[in-house]
Amino acid sequence: MKYDYLIVGGGLYGATFAYLARRQGKKCLLIEKRPHLGGNLYCECVEGINVHKYGAHIFHTSNRKVWDLVNSIVEFNRYTNSPIANYKGKLYNLPFNMNTFCRMWNVTTPQEATAKLEEQRKAAMTSLQGREPRNLEEQAKLLIGEDIYEQLIKGYTEKQWGRKCTELPAFIIKRLPVRLVFDNNYFNDKYQGIPVGGYNRLIEGLLQEVETVTDADFFADRKHWENVADRIVYTGKIDEFYDYRFGYLEYRTVRFSQKTLDTPNYQGNAVVNYTDREIPYTRIIEHKHFETFGDDVYRLPKTVISEEYPVEWEIGMEPYYPINDDRNMKLYRKYETLAENDSDVVFGGRLAEYKYYDMHHIIENVLKLF
Ligand code: FAD
Ligand code: UDP
Repeated sequence: MKYDYLIVGGGLYGATFAYLARRQGKKCLLIEKRPHLGGNLYCECVEGINVHKYGAHIFHTSNRKVWDLVNSIVEFNRYTNSPIANYKGKLYNLPFNMNTFCRMWNVTTPQEATAKLEEQRKAAMTSLQGREPRNLEEQAKLLIGEDIYEQLIKGYTEKQWGRKCTELPAFIIKRLPVRLVFDNNYFNDKYQGIPVGGYNRLIEGLLQEVETVTDADFFADRKHWENVADRIVYTGKIDEFYDYRFGYLEYRTVRFSQKTLDTPNYQGNAVVNYTDREIPYTRIIEHKHFETFGDDVYRLPKTVISEEYPVEWEIGMEPYYPINDDRNMKLYRKYETLAENDSDVVFGGRLAEYKYYDMHHIIENVLKLF
């Protein structure tokens, strides 16, 4: 065989795998069906601004090895994610912290906020009677109570997932921190930032000296690709690898409506979430705020925004968010069993493992593998 590894998919998993394998002296060929590398991290430069084409990406991790690895490839800036929630024109800070509670309930101290939160959670505690929350609504009401659930969670979540909160798994909402300090940092991790010059620099750095082919779909010529390397690293959809023999895994997808505006500063923040049900998009991203801070925002005369419209996934659309409900998880387990017996293939990443992974999880997994 000409190569040690054929890597299917030029996203973060494929690129990190290629980087570490090359450092061990392995010969890799990476193929990507899109016309560019980077997977969902891919950025396109518009009006001097790096636009996150497949959704906003903020790198965060508490794992020093992961942070050191990405920083050895590219410098990261000081961006800290602090989204704003807009509920019917009223603005709140996220994640749920003293600023949110102050605006919602007029409380000014952690003690007052705690008392209010306890009162708000009481109904949920009573109805659960000590058992674990069975769905997202129960989990959210237990976490944060009625007011915040109704105004900042319910509408956003039902738009995002196209399902009622009572039909969604509880774990989705456990990601959101609740804090009794005036801290709008969305993540709890030690390290956070965006690559200076955009994510393409990170991918290019990882793939330096690796042979890559874009516009190359593994399934368009499967026989050929299966015969170029000793082993395959597969980061595409696991059900597609097995010809959908047990049925299709479902996803949630997003339509991005991108606009260039003739103003240097449209919304004053990178991320503004629209949490009521009536506005059809979930959030608006203003990309320049990921990389320009303070007065530097005004250096470029224009700005680029993306409205995110969640859409039910159909075959042929981009598979963004795996839907880890009972039906899909049962189906995934069947494919996973086939994959476990395929010893010549490594299945890795969001699509092949059908998991809601962040970028740091992906790098952590590849590091563990090596
Ligand atoms: P992907 O990036 O999906 O890469 C897989 C690649 O394989 C794709 O390029 C695909 O085209 C290619 N491929 C598939 N099938 C084939 C085939 N048959 N032949 C050839 N190529 C193929 N994470 C964070 O840490 N922070 C964030 O803020 C964040 N925001 C996100 C926002 C959105 C909207 C989404 C969807 C994800 C977000 N993530 C975020 C998660 C992050 O995108 C993933 O963790 C990461 O991109 C996963 O990398 P991957 O290589 O597994 O998958
Ligand atoms: N969420 C919410 N209101 C918000 C933001 C998030 O209810 O203003 C919920 C929603 O269910 C979402 C989950 O929290 O799916 C995780 O959101 P996050 O923005 O962290 O995830 P992402 O969409 O960026 O992967």
